[in-house]
Amino acid sequence: MSYSYVSHLECPKCHKTYSDQEVQQLCECGAPLLVRYNLDEVKANWKKSDLSTRDTSLWRYHEVLPVRSEENTVSLGEGMTPFVHMKKLGQQMDIPNLYMKDEGIIPTGSFKTRGASVGISKAKELGVEQLAMPTNGNAGAAWALYSARAGIKATIVMPVDAPNITRKEVAVSGGDLHLVNGLISHAGKIVGQLVKEKGVYDASTLKEPYRIEGKKTMGYEILEQMNWEIPDVILYPTGGGVGLIGIYKAILELKELGWIPEDKLPRLVAVQAEGCAPIVKAWEEGKTESEFFENSQTSAFGINVPKALGDFLVLEAVYKTNGCAIAVSEADLDKAQKEVAQLEGNFICPEGAATFAAAQNLRKQGWIKENETVICLNTGQGIKYPETVNIENLPLLEPGDVIKG
Ligand SMILES: *Cc1c(COP(=O)(O)O)cnc(C)c1O
Ligand SMILES: [Zn+2]
Repeated sequence: MSYSYVSHLECPKCHKTYSDQEVQQLCECGAPLLVRYNLDEVKANWKKSDLSTRDTSLWRYHEVLPVRSEENTVSLGEGMTPFVHMKKLGQQMDIPNLYMKDEGIIPTGSFKTRGASVGISKAKELGVEQLAMPTNGNAGAAWALYSARAGIKATIVMPVDAPNITRKEVAVSGGDLHLVNGLISHAGKIVGQLVKEKGVYDASTLKEPYRIEGKKTMGYEILEQMNWEIPDVILYPTGGGVGLIGIYKAILELKELGWIPEDKLPRLVAVQAEGCAPIVKAWEEGKTESEFFENSQTSAFGINVPKALGDFLVLEAVYKTNGCAIAVSEADLDKAQKEVAQLEGNFICPEGAATFAAAQNLRKQGWIKENETVICLNTGQGIKYPETVNIENLPLLEPGDVIKG
């Protein structure tokens, strides 16, 4: 029995293979690398029932994670986030089987923690001492904190407009924080220069192969929480698209393991904001890659990614599952955020709210049918973005005043 059944890395574009036992970044051809496992051996040695005695961190799936030695895992207990039936909202939207996978309930308050836990554990296993990454905020926060736990130096570059709290999360961890007066793409160029000159490990989205492995555990958990039944639709707020690629990868692996039925795939939906919708544009035009989206803007900061390195993998997952890509307006996104709070008692992040707005639109169009099981991914805590809620004209009482009514 092995802790991990990792076999090698593979390029999804040119199929060149690489060892996971030394530092790897992109394939020679420029595409991101994916981790492959000896799934036949996993199948022979790992049973669903083994899960019942394991703790609830994402490391419960260690057989299909890339860290070879348990002592290298860097964990704060992340994983098995709530899977919530949204009864009242579902009724209003005419989707009675509407669920939310709530990634707000996780260390650092966003699902970026999953990628950080697995990515940094593998970096530690490979002896990495310093890493650098551009971020829209949440990834930098998670990677800085987990780097601190692992004893790795983290250099984080984020737009000056990124949520203030994520800046503080990096600062409190002792991370080497830099702000850039521009977008994540500008931060990426600055990190690229540092990587080239100083040889530090490049932890940019998909430039190391392991973040996606952390994010794929959302797929494993959703299936486990659904008792290994396949849902009809999963909606995902798509920036770099790593979570969507990861969920698709999880589903394919689970099929190979024989843990879920062969004959069905969930339709995967890439949700974007109208102000930054490169994947939606590509999907509408039937293309397999996206183009840089000029002057992108949205309050859903985590999905403000004008050009994703893994765009071709996101589009493949959408096409292969008969899914779709859809953009929502800022007004719809704000409205959905309030509805979730007012009907279901959960303050979700604007990115998560976008998936509910999209579900509503797709139901109205008839793309989602009434009795389908629909899962919206809430990727983070609303309380990380206090400025998305405006409060004006609150009554100010004097001591001793009485409230009427
Ligand atoms: C990063 C982020 C996203 C987008 O994730 P990708 O996997 O890169 O598409 C969505 N929501 C939040 C809150 C994020 O921080
Ligand atoms: Zn390649």
